Amino acid sequence: MNYPGHLLTAFLASILLLAAMNLIFYIPFSLIDSVALILVCLGSTMLPDLDHPESKGTQLTQRFLPPLIMLFAFGTKFAGYRFSENTIIPKLQDALIFGFAGIGFFFVITNYFRPSHRGITHSLLVNTGYGALIWVVTGYDVNVTIFAAGGYLTHLLTDQCIKLV
Ligand SMILES: [Zn+2]
Repeated sequence: MNYPGHLLTAFLASILLLAAMNLIFYIPFSLIDSVALILVCLGSTMLPDLDHPESKGTQLTQRFLPPLIMLFAFGTKFAGYRFSENTIIPKLQDALIFGFAGIGFFFVITNYFRPSHRGITHSLLVNTGYGALIWVVTGYDVNVTIFAAGGYLTHLLTDQCIKLV
């Protein structure tokens, strides 16, 4: 499936998740937290195709990652952490540092080892590992973890390509 389909599926899934968590588990999210969780889900659904050099995720990452890292570094250094009144944004800022490191690691692997398309990145093993990584780097935040791992999973489901390893 192409990236608009993946993004649409992840968007609908995140809306359903937000509604379910609100209605069933009585976890209300602020508007900013809700938008942040939706963006986590959308970003996560683009990750599995980073193993393909011409995928939209790869193109967008190559185009926008360098300025994003630059802005993030300057912003953090000079503006400080200004979102401390929200619950999820500060955790995301911390997670972003690991995220950039993780994407760098990902590009090292894809550039030097070139895994086959729809190989290991389309597996439940990497999906679970990604969820575990997000869980640790967000300080064990279950909500962000659910939206990150869930977004990744919607990609595998809509590709109809789910490997164990
Ligand atoms: Zn895919």
